Amino acid sequence: MKIAVLAVQGAFAEHIDKLKKLGADFVELRQAADLDQDFDGLILPGGESTVQGKLLRELSMFAPIQEKIKRGLPVLATCAGLILLAQEISNDSNVYFGTLPVRVQRNAYGRQLGSFHTEQEFVGIGRVPMTFIRAPYIESVIPVRFDEHHVLARVDGRIVAVRFGNQIGVAFHPELDEDDRIHEMFLGMCG
Ligand code: GLN
Repeated sequence: MKIAVLAVQGAFAEHIDKLKKLGADFVELRQAADLDQDFDGLILPGGESTVQGKLLRELSMFAPIQEKIKRGLPVLATCAGLILLAQEISNDSNVYFGTLPVRVQRNAYGRQLGSFHTEQEFVGIGRVPMTFIRAPYIESVIPVRFDEHHVLARVDGRIVAVRFGNQIGVAFHPELDEDDRIHEMFLGMCG
């Protein structure tokens, strides 16, 4: 099994460390040619969604990645990655891949609470540590007729993790904590 990690900007190295720890093969996506090889899953890391979106277009990687996601490639998107997947961004006029029918709010926790750590229930896993860094949250899921959303986690009533089909979007950074279970669950979807 081989997992691709978008590596144009942001916290991709920590995801790669997790994959190494879990014994999964990986490829870094740095340029369009990297998309030619076969892979079984994709990780979209945290970072700055505006910068990642711009680089993806400049590097001609945007359309091919979007196509793969639409065709059902399993995706784990964290923080800025969640923003890239979202169909709507309430406080930003951009939309990126738009494959995940949710409405997110960027930098949703304000300045003082911009970064924080907590531990909450994650469906199917149990309590997991959650590190939020200038994170978005999911304001609402956008109903669609053909498939269902699964809300995976909430913090203070706000949705911070969701699964829709093969896409998992989380507002926090599971790659920054010792706990490997979210990555393990994702690898289970890819194999
Ligand atoms: N604030 C960033 C954005 O809007 C996301 C932060 C992160 O990925 N840690 O893209």
